[in-house]
Amino acid sequence: MQSNPSRSIFEQFILPSWVQDRALSANLRISNYVVNAVAVRPELEGVFRVTHDNLLALRSDQTQANKVFCTPFLAFAPTLSSVADWRSFIEGSMPTITMDRLQAALPDLSVVERLALEHTNRSYITALYDMLNMSVLAAPLIGISNELAAYLRSVPQHEMDVAISERLVPLFQWRFTDELFWLETLAGRLTRELIAHSLMETAPLRTDRLPHSEVWGKFRLENFVRDALFEAFLNFGCRAKSVSSLFNTSLEAARDAYKRIHGRSSPSGQPPSSLTWFIDNAQRRVQSTFQMWLFRAAVACEVSTPESFVAAMDVNKAFFAEDCKVPPERSMHLARSMAMNEELAVWPCRKCGTPYLASNSSEKIELMHSFTCPCCNGSLMATRGGNRRRK
Ligand SMILES: [Zn+2]
Repeated sequence: MQSNPSRSIFEQFILPSWVQDRALSANLRISNYVVNAVAVRPELEGVFRVTHDNLLALRSDQTQANKVFCTPFLAFAPTLSSVADWRSFIEGSMPTITMDRLQAALPDLSVVERLALEHTNRSYITALYDMLNMSVLAAPLIGISNELAAYLRSVPQHEMDVAISERLVPLFQWRFTDELFWLETLAGRLTRELIAHSLMETAPLRTDRLPHSEVWGKFRLENFVRDALFEAFLNFGCRAKSVSSLFNTSLEAARDAYKRIHGRSSPSGQPPSSLTWFIDNAQRRVQSTFQMWLFRAAVACEVSTPESFVAAMDVNKAFFAEDCKVPPERSMHLARSMAMNEELAVWPCRKCGTPYLASNSSEKIELMHSFTCPCCNGSLMATRGGNRRRK
């Protein structure tokens, strides 16, 4: 393999573009299989948790399909959700309830159909392994717990291969089961915020149960790691002043590095200070929460705080692309503040249970027991017009 000489040193902390491409390829390949399989066998709709008409409609709308499939997130989650389920699948031991249910739900397939399913299972597992081996954020990208991610990383791929040949069960299912997801898709109004909501809602990783980061600053890092992370923060567009104070370098060095990376000077002016800014409108609340969800998912893997931040910003950037409403300088302020004070809290929505950033201060009164998320209270749909605007 040829190495790319222009690769920056911080790229070891972000998702390589080839893994993102694998995710896209798996999303397209598996959705293609599912559309065809359920067209022939409608009884498989229950197994894959998606109807033929819905998936076909999504795939036929290029703009919406891009938002779902062209992201680092896999659009299909594993049908086996616990370590015990996977052990039973891999070791062929006593089937768990989930394994039993999957085997029972599978209709009598022809030889060709069995081969197609086995082949798609393999494609899915390959994508899973790429994520698991290349990203600290594999758990949220795949839609599993960190515990399951750690277990799957420990399983040699040849054991998985044998299991796939010996035990035929569908290993993947559609991830976006929210009814609202399909209502908006069919109306041609799917937004990245709604997809982000759906990813968080259906994930076993919950922002309110993930660990907080340590207090920012005075990071104990090897010099070369510190240099790489320093460059990564600047590369994402965090201001030279904030980055220099965070990594304890001279302001001049940070300004020079910023200019070298971006070809222009780092913006001056006051750094952001307001915390209610993050929940001022529905889009910002979803995007800020999404960032904290990713950040804490990485922190839970015992990765250093700045590395967790870089990994989260990288995935966030790939996911929201030009619709990003919370720039990294703000995100840095958010993550830093949440490690130090409790002005913002993370509360579960009273209706759907998805944890969201909420105000815990007198500046903006929100009550935990009556808190509803931007999706359930309709505010996300109401701001849809704004979301379509392009820079
Ligand atoms: Zn809700």
